[in-house]
Amino acid sequence: MHDQPERVRSRGDLLLATLSVGLPVAIYNLLLVLTGTALLRAALRRALPGRSWTWVAGLGAGAAYFAVVTVHFDVYRYFRDGIDLGVAKDLGGGSLGRALAFVRAELMGLLPLVLSAVAGGVAWIFLCRRFGRRISGGLGGSGAGRRFGTARGILLANVMVVLLPGAALAVSDRLERTLGKVEAHRLYRVPLAYLTDFDGDGFGLMTRPFDHAPFDGSRHPYARDIPGNGIDENGVGGDLPRAEARPPMEAWDGRRLERKNVLLVVLETARYDLLDAVVDGQPVMPALAAMPGQRLRVISHFAFTGPAICGIFNGTISDAEEGTSLIDRFRAFGYATGVFSGQPEDHADIARRTGMDRADVRWDASLMPAERMYAGADLNSLVVPGHLPVGELAKWIGTLGDRRFFAYLNLQEMHFPYDSKKIPATLLDEPIPRSEITEANRDWLLRTYWNAARRVDTVLGMAIETLRASGRLEETLVLVVGDHGEELFHHGYLGHGVNISHEQNETFLKLVNGTIDAPEGPIGHSDIGRVIHNALARDPADRMPIGGPVLAIVGGPVAPRQIGLFDATGLRKYDFSKDAWTREDGPGGEPRRMDEDPAVIHAWESYALAASR
Ligand SMILES: [Zn+2]
Repeated sequence: MHDQPERVRSRGDLLLATLSVGLPVAIYNLLLVLTGTALLRAALRRALPGRSWTWVAGLGAGAAYFAVVTVHFDVYRYFRDGIDLGVAKDLGGGSLGRALAFVRAELMGLLPLVLSAVAGGVAWIFLCRRFGRRISGGLGGSGAGRRFGTARGILLANVMVVLLPGAALAVSDRLERTLGKVEAHRLYRVPLAYLTDFDGDGFGLMTRPFDHAPFDGSRHPYARDIPGNGIDENGVGGDLPRAEARPPMEAWDGRRLERKNVLLVVLETARYDLLDAVVDGQPVMPALAAMPGQRLRVISHFAFTGPAICGIFNGTISDAEEGTSLIDRFRAFGYATGVFSGQPEDHADIARRTGMDRADVRWDASLMPAERMYAGADLNSLVVPGHLPVGELAKWIGTLGDRRFFAYLNLQEMHFPYDSKKIPATLLDEPIPRSEITEANRDWLLRTYWNAARRVDTVLGMAIETLRASGRLEETLVLVVGDHGEELFHHGYLGHGVNISHEQNETFLKLVNGTIDAPEGPIGHSDIGRVIHNALARDPADRMPIGGPVLAIVGGPVAPRQIGLFDATGLRKYDFSKDAWTREDGPGGEPRRMDEDPAVIHAWESYALAASR
């Protein structure tokens, strides 16, 4: 069963979708402006009696409506990902003029929106001035106007429209979810959602997931399941028999580990299939594919950069946990520690959380804003080409003499939109432009992504060559691991972190100059520290246990939208908002419906209990 509720398949579906969504939206908006007009008119009459304020009120309500919709719906969405003038100002070297140059791309993108909002407002003012009196007079004189134009009529209409979200939900969850993207719908949903939350726990008959215990405030979909009390507090998976949280990573004994250098390379957005991908008869990543070493399947618990890097460094699944950073572990062993990153590691507070700010040397993209690969002012898009951090790494290694090192290298070329003027086009003539990235252009998109991967491979080859040239390659444990995968429309999505799947969550690890006992299934990012430990352990008896089902989450750890478990048999997944169970047999597989699996729920419940302690 293909789980793609957002997709429309035929022309009939399209018509039905347009009607079922467009009609309520039109009703909502008309009534909102009408109600605003009536309220404003009443207020004006009271404050400044003696005139008919109808058209002035209509003008005000309409203009306010335009402003609210524009600001809330579009500008907010546009800036949500964190444009920050303070950050931009720092990038511009403290000069506001240069800072504005950095954000110009963003502002230019907003220009059409601002212009159309201004044009809409001006047109509204013109229409009100020209026809306002006549329309309000005409409407007031008509039968319908007399009936519904009164305060009581407008109140009645509002009461009826408040019931509309309930009706939409009765038709289908999918319709309600689609309408939920409209501001007016969310506004008109509030009264009914409040009234059907009988026990006041924030969940009711109108929420998704809905409240399975509507009259018990201690039981709702994200209530903590207290182990072994016979009560299923959150209504999924039955009562948690006992919490089985994974213990935190064991202490490392430096005397029992080989004193090898460690080079940890993290590849931004590395799909699980990159090492096997072939283009024109050649591997997409020839240097990496040719390196002798052990390959492991790796799952990104959240399929987002921040939690992934923190998980790799600290052995954690989410930010809700604390862990010991690899930086601190190797500093304690007397290693030199260095950070060389194509991304700004302050992004998502990574540097502080991972102890990177305690490394001997920290070089990241924020030091070279002019070399950025993409336009855009948010910290997220400030990423620089990989040869820069590799060059810094090479310089640093040259200064170390006999000292052992732990180095972290981060390469960003495979970040969306997979192309920049700084990435040479070697695998195709013309990389796909951002505006052409659609499902219909999947092949072109994939080829563009591979082109970026080839560039990463070339840069990675330079880093390996540096080690070889300095005579250190043999004595260096090298790990190359992705921070998460990337879905290129396989299940209808583009990107990562929004829908648990092998495409979005699975990546790979290549381990060079060291081996571990590979588990049967994939490992999580939280096990990468154990991989390093075990690869360095002199005595096999010291190896830590690695493996077991890997937990994946979309949303927060305590109130997720989806949870899943990956193991050798594939993915088992529960979607809270759709109350749907699906499984996938492996990478490239299609989701199929499955029965409830308490093991998935219990793994998450155990984790949520431990993480929120
Ligand atoms: Zn990432």
